[in-house]
Amino acid sequence: MKAIRRFTVRTVLPESIAPLGRLARNLRWSWHKPTEDLFTQLSPRAWEAVHGDPVKLLGSLTREEIQQLAQDPDLVARVRELDADLQTYLHEPHWYQRTQGPDAPAAIAYFSAEYGITSALPQYSGGLGILAGDHLKTASDMGIPVLGVGLFYQAGYFKQSLSRDGWQQETYPVLDPDELPLTLLREADGTPARVRLPLPDGRTLAAQIWRADVGRVPLLLLDSNIPDNDDAARTVTDRLYGGGSDHRLQQELLLGMGGTRALRIHSRLTGAPAPEVFHCNEGHAGFLGIERVQELMNPGAGRQPMTWDEALTAVRAATVFTTHTPVPAGIDRFERAQVEHYFRAGLTPDVPVDRVLELGAETCPDGDPGKFNMAVMGLRLAQRANGVAKLHGSVSRSMFQGLWQGFDADEVPITSVTNGVHVPSWIDPLVWDLAVEPEENDAEPAARWRKVYDVPDTELWAARRGLRERLVLDVRERLRASWKKRGATDAELGWTASVLDPDVLTIGFARRVPTYKRLTLMLRDPERLKRRLLDPRRPVQLVVAGKSHPADEMGKRMIQDLVRFTDDPEVRHRIVFLPNYDIAMARVLFPGCDVWLNNPLRPLEACGTSGMKAAINGGLNLSVLDGWWDEMYDGQNGWAIPTADGKASTDERDDVEAAALYELLEHHVAPRFYGESGDTAGGEPVPHQWLAMVRHTLATLGPRVSSRRMLTDYVQQLYIPACVSGRRAAAEDGAAARATAHWIERVRRAWPEVHVEHVDAQGVHQEPQIGDELRVNAYVRLGTLSPEDVTVQVGYGRVSESDHLHERSSAELAPAQDLGEGRHLFSGPLTIDRSGPFGYTVRVLPCSSELADPAELALVRNAAD
Ligand SMILES: *Cc1c(COP(=O)(O)O)cnc(C)c1O
Repeated sequence: MKAIRRFTVRTVLPESIAPLGRLARNLRWSWHKPTEDLFTQLSPRAWEAVHGDPVKLLGSLTREEIQQLAQDPDLVARVRELDADLQTYLHEPHWYQRTQGPDAPAAIAYFSAEYGITSALPQYSGGLGILAGDHLKTASDMGIPVLGVGLFYQAGYFKQSLSRDGWQQETYPVLDPDELPLTLLREADGTPARVRLPLPDGRTLAAQIWRADVGRVPLLLLDSNIPDNDDAARTVTDRLYGGGSDHRLQQELLLGMGGTRALRIHSRLTGAPAPEVFHCNEGHAGFLGIERVQELMNPGAGRQPMTWDEALTAVRAATVFTTHTPVPAGIDRFERAQVEHYFRAGLTPDVPVDRVLELGAETCPDGDPGKFNMAVMGLRLAQRANGVAKLHGSVSRSMFQGLWQGFDADEVPITSVTNGVHVPSWIDPLVWDLAVEPEENDAEPAARWRKVYDVPDTELWAARRGLRERLVLDVRERLRASWKKRGATDAELGWTASVLDPDVLTIGFARRVPTYKRLTLMLRDPERLKRRLLDPRRPVQLVVAGKSHPADEMGKRMIQDLVRFTDDPEVRHRIVFLPNYDIAMARVLFPGCDVWLNNPLRPLEACGTSGMKAAINGGLNLSVLDGWWDEMYDGQNGWAIPTADGKASTDERDDVEAAALYELLEHHVAPRFYGESGDTAGGEPVPHQWLAMVRHTLATLGPRVSSRRMLTDYVQQLYIPACVSGRRAAAEDGAAARATAHWIERVRRAWPEVHVEHVDAQGVHQEPQIGDELRVNAYVRLGTLSPEDVTVQVGYGRVSESDHLHERSSAELAPAQDLGEGRHLFSGPLTIDRSGPFGYTVRVLPCSSELADPAELALVRNAAD
């Protein structure tokens, strides 16, 4: 029979255990082990059946079961205790309240297209979402007043399974928000709050707003699946990264513009402070800046409207943009005409549409005039921007250099904050108890991780084996289930019960499957891989997982190649592919692996965080020097796979790098793991050198890869400066923003007249020596600008054959004389501080205390121009 109506019946809990509802609805349970244990304990069988989801668990209990629980005095006491603990956690001062001063923002809005918080709320596809989830959880733990904004996708991302011949199959199970830890935001009269965006042809896109509580951090998720909408509008939030570009554009308009409106509604209804800083996590949410410009251009009664330029200045001051991809193809772009079509429908009635279009224009030399580029817009709408690892910062500066013509790549104003991982979510409780001091809010983080040096070898080795064994058992179950889906019968599957060995060196490789991550590099020489797997003395075993984007045929072919290799009866006990990589699998996989393998095509991995999750569990990284590993590999915490960067073709690179991988496995990794230097302890062979690396990894990488370090960096390097700039810009009804905007306009207008007319230097000897001091004189035409509007710099250093300056330093020249008619002499000393080919040059830059970086306006006049 098929039901014709459906509704969700809420469980009513008796008074004595009523706080269970609160504990289930705040997602803190997902990283607070005692709370999670409480739910498991309620009914281990039901917990398993609902795949670890407290809201579903409570919904699945019968009335009798609930009555029984309500009368268990131990349980009632435990519920009270954990509820009190949650209340303390939610309200007591944390790191932020204790250590930050008045310049710290009262609230920070964090926008992201996806959030990976727990498998019970599957709203993520991969690294970006997991990072966003970790960002919110960590902000909560540290008391940082972040508010998350995103979309509620009815089907989240897809579920992956395999066909008989190893081809990826996708399904999209529909989520019922009423069965999720979400609360609908309602107006005072009880009706659901609504965000509405006008669409072309007189249509409207409306959305309701779900609120998830991530510890102290509220997360607002917009959902267009409501009866107010026509059928097409209802499906806007159907899937993460689904549909064509028009669908995607509507999602992003809803996320950025609708998300900003949702924040305002949330503040109005709850009294939450208005965000002082807006953090745009990747380009998808970029339209948030345009909505804020609209707010300032039409601010309502009592406040003076701003012009476009004034509003843009004010918005930029308080915005941080994070770019996540070093691959131009990974950037979100729309047809310019498509964006225009939507904005002409009146999305932002006071914002000139041409100005919106200019923001996304690819004005760099290789840009496409027909495209609207979300990352370019993100950079233009934010006064501060960052990449997600040191190397990625540098790659991003080169990638976007075209927008800052006249500047060297290293001057492009994109800094970096290296990603981190939320330790309580990703560390196994066994490792946590054994190796890390409990989390004291303000304790020096590095000290907490040194506890591992006190753990005896035998104990550490036993713990690592326990984690490996648990993974092996989990793999056997998953593999069996996967084969049954692929059409095998029980009778054929006896072999799955003995797949993998808890005493064999275990290597993990799991990630999304875009081409650059090279899932199949390990198959480059299949015979050589087989020899490693089947080595009688030092075998290795491999656990592989990963989803390919549904539209990526290449990725699916790679998965199929890998699956076919793992299907071979000769090796299938040593290598497995597990379908449907997700948070739940990851939490068993990271702790269980001895080695985490990562072999992207350098430098295309922006950061990567899976290796970090392995590291905090005592796994050693075996990785190409890309992303985070490039800055954190120290020679003793794992291995670097050498890369053939440079001119080699992709094919040649694959050959060279795969060979290096096999060689490392055979001669370095496996011998160390099997400890064949004859180590023994307590009768058991214990590989002391291996364990020394494990200890070193935990103690030194633990504090550095922790997202506490990441959030501290964001607060100090980006949020506080953005807050200070934003407040200054907004003060006195935006007086400073108006003044700065006018100054910028004046500078831009005058800039074509600015020239370095002549440079000379006094004191140059026939044979210059180190220590010689020159006096540099620059005759500069400033037109209508005055010397206070600019900085005149002398840049100097070693010169290359082509006269390019490197190892550059710079010094400011001081205004020395007004020569009349807009001409000025600037002058200053320059000390020759190195031998060899030496050169110098002079340039003019705009200068104001309101600029966060001298390159910010992308204006420069070089002497050579
Ligand atoms: C950590 C994680 C990722 C991201 O891993 P990368 O190293 O960035 O590729 C993706 N999916 C899941 C389930 C994760 O836990």
